[in-house]
Amino acid sequence: MADYYELLGVPRTASADEIKKAYRQRAREFHPDANPDDAAAAEQFKKVAQAYQVLSDDQQRSRYDRYGEAGVGGPGGGGGPSAEDLFGGGLGDIFETFFGGAGGGSPFGGGGRARGPSGPPRGQDIEVIADISFEQAVFGDEIDVSLKLPTRCGDCEGTGAGEGTKPITCSDCGGSGQVQRVRQSLLGQMVTASPCSRCGGLGQIVTTPCATCRGEGRVTSDKTYQVDVPAGVDSGSTLRLSGRGAIGPRGGGAGDLYVHLRVAPHDLFLREDHDLVTEVPVSIAQAALGTQIELETLDGAEHLIVPPGTQPGREFVLRQRGVPHLRGRGRGDLRARVRVDIPTKLTDDEVDLLTRYADGRGEVVGNGKEGLFSRIKSAFS
Ligand code: ZN
Repeated sequence: MADYYELLGVPRTASADEIKKAYRQRAREFHPDANPDDAAAAEQFKKVAQAYQVLSDDQQRSRYDRYGEAGVGGPGGGGGPSAEDLFGGGLGDIFETFFGGAGGGSPFGGGGRARGPSGPPRGQDIEVIADISFEQAVFGDEIDVSLKLPTRCGDCEGTGAGEGTKPITCSDCGGSGQVQRVRQSLLGQMVTASPCSRCGGLGQIVTTPCATCRGEGRVTSDKTYQVDVPAGVDSGSTLRLSGRGAIGPRGGGAGDLYVHLRVAPHDLFLREDHDLVTEVPVSIAQAALGTQIELETLDGAEHLIVPPGTQPGREFVLRQRGVPHLRGRGRGDLRARVRVDIPTKLTDDEVDLLTRYADGRGEVVGNGKEGLFSRIKSAFS
């Protein structure tokens, strides 16, 4: 098949716009509607479409530049762009957030899916766990995620070919990476395609392997990615970084990187969905008589008035002091729950005070015996 650039009539340096324009023009020229019953035009129309499909996709285009047709599935390797092509290699900081929780809707369903009909397979998806603080989860942050993973070999630029050599096109499959067999069946001719065994489906054969990567085109190295953690994530949230996973062998695309977040607990705050819950410890006197306290929130201290007669468990709600809604507006609330601390150690004076208080209200206090004993004692004194 002719060179894709030639088919569209554009230079190899053409921009995406130039390619699009050229394709539209050619497509009109060879369109079957404009050339009824013209087999040559129909064939040309198909070729132009395939050329455009490859050259309009950055990733496929760069593979085509490097490997020719073999790198993009060869003749007839069409079909729509695969998911990998849509999300593929190094698209930057695009990430998607998945919510944790058991099972369903796991983002890993597609893990390790094979690339198109041929060509070097896509690398694996990689999963890592990142520990973040409670505050980072609430307010978001940029974190560094370091990991070891297969990356493109710099010495052979991913081709796997030793210094001064180039991979050659596999003669068994003509570079397509797959061999087709025609067999007869009850239903007629059946064509089955299977990966070429000679080149392992890669379409290319390395005669002199690169010394650094032993012909694999990739090496394991340390990487540190800066990952944007959006405000409002929680333990179990997963960030997906497209094309930041393992690189495939010999120029294959990269898998995705999944960063599972693990949020450290906080001493003062418990998370309940988008609300934060904290405790307001007060004494019995403060609960009965009321008080004012400085309440810690994640946004700094807030003045809180506890009115007289406040009951244990009463909640004071501070609006918009909770966790921000992920991908939404607003925040949850901070719910400050009153806890009344009953003193366990009292001085004699305090016992006296409380006893008089109880007596005044006609309440029986003290454990049975002692109470009885003290009452008998006081009756005889
Ligand atoms: Zn290498």
